[in-house]
Amino acid sequence: MKRGFYDVVISGAGVSGLGLAALLKKSPLFKSRSVLVLDRTLPNILPAMDPKEEGGNRSEKSRPYSNRIYALNESSLEVLQRTGAWEVVCDEYRHWPAYRMVTLDSKSPSGFTSFPSSSLESDERIEKPVAHFLESEVIVSSLLKVIQDSPHKVTDTVSMNKNEITGIQRNQSSIQLTLEGGQTIETSLLVGAEGYKSNVRKLAKMKCYQHEYHHHALVGTLSVECSDGNRAAWQRFLPSGPIASLPLNRDTASLVLFAEKSNLDELITKTESEIVEQLNAYWSEDYGDNFQFTGALKILSRGLNGITGSPEAEEPKPPMIRSVDKSTLATFPVGFGHASHYVQPNIALIGDAAHRIHPLAGQGANLSLLDCEVLSTQVEEALGKGENPGKYSSLLEYERKAQKHNLTTQLFCDLIYRMYGTNSAPVVALRSLASIGVNNLEMVNKSLVHWASSGKNAYKT
Ligand SMILES: Cc1cc2nc3c(=O)[nH]c(=O)nc-3n(C[C@H](O)[C@H](O)[C@H](O)COP(=O)(O)OP(=O)(O)OC[C@H]3O[C@@H](n4cnc5c(N)ncnc54)[C@H](O)[C@@H]3O)c2cc1C
Repeated sequence: MKRGFYDVVISGAGVSGLGLAALLKKSPLFKSRSVLVLDRTLPNILPAMDPKEEGGNRSEKSRPYSNRIYALNESSLEVLQRTGAWEVVCDEYRHWPAYRMVTLDSKSPSGFTSFPSSSLESDERIEKPVAHFLESEVIVSSLLKVIQDSPHKVTDTVSMNKNEITGIQRNQSSIQLTLEGGQTIETSLLVGAEGYKSNVRKLAKMKCYQHEYHHHALVGTLSVECSDGNRAAWQRFLPSGPIASLPLNRDTASLVLFAEKSNLDELITKTESEIVEQLNAYWSEDYGDNFQFTGALKILSRGLNGITGSPEAEEPKPPMIRSVDKSTLATFPVGFGHASHYVQPNIALIGDAAHRIHPLAGQGANLSLLDCEVLSTQVEEALGKGENPGKYSSLLEYERKAQKHNLTTQLFCDLIYRMYGTNSAPVVALRSLASIGVNNLEMVNKSLVHWASSGKNAYKT
């Protein structure tokens, strides 16, 4: 091996960068190959949680929850299982499965949807979780553990370095990188995984369409009271933007509130009890007084119940917020981004560097982990044929598969955001009709559950 040469260099040690590094490390083809992960701030590994702490149940709280919570779907779980990181999550950290996702429309009581539509109380109809909720730092720590826990330290595939790339230069079949501090290294494949402000994307002059949504997201940890053991994720669409409650354990949930930044900043300055009162009002207040079609929609819903034989559904009751941990409240900008190309010869983008999505459906990290799977497969295929891992035709295959699925998901979330961002009566009627259909038509409901809990099939063509 040439000094200063790495088969793959990954810039960014977030979910996508570490996900790809962990997958490559697992590959037999990388036994004698090298991967370098660079990040300007290397993440820490969380200490393992003591199972004896809370009656042996790590899903309960033995340390405060962080405010960055991800809803991982079945496909992401499979990727983490393949790397060995999911075992670390289960053995050393915590996660919380949810069996139902409920969305409510504050402009229309008939406009709620439930995925799956079965009642939470009827345990026999609950098959498998629709999502697993866990902290971003748990995913990162578990991936770091499988990357670093190597019995063969001398021949370790993955090394990590706190550094940033300041320049790139193309050679015939490789890229030469200049790092901060002046050091130069060379690689067959440079991967940009630095999030939506990707450095590699800029250095390689790869075009990216971007826009910011007009609101920010406020996140934080809530103490909640609910009747279903907190096994559902909730979202209510308000005229000011959606509010979500993501379950973390029986009585703890993570808040995501989308609104204009000035309104969120003002809310944070209030006392804890004022914040709790305001948040509970967001979950219960009726904003539908200008809506003419409520009665007609109820009749339609009853009619459909009669045809399909399903029981008449009442608008579900979301958890009641008891308290909020003010120290965990923080705001994030929310935007849309789409790189017109994910690849160039010897260069690839993954995760938010390639696509930024509105977080209302919790799909960003899921798309990122699927990118890792598809790109690692292409790299392995190229190496298996004795080719360069950065071979353009092979990278184009990754782009083709990933872009199709990612863009469809991004546009779907954008459409939902726009459909629920208006108070126009015909649009409210339209989305209420869609909700009634989703609740009553089993096939539609099942397809949507499948879409939300697994994105994998879309990649298979
Ligand atoms: C409020 C909110 C809620 C969300 N909820 C969900 C959810 O429930 N489910 C879900 O799937 N997704 C969710 N997302 C999306 C999710 O956070 C992202 O899609 C995901 O973090 C992307 O991972 P990434 O590794 O591509 O980028 P990042 O997580 O942003 O990681 C980028 C890494 O690159 C490093 N870096 C940055 N610049 C440089 C540089 N110049 N040089 C070297 N290193 C650099 C950073 O330090 C970081 O470690 C949410 C997003 C927001 C804003």
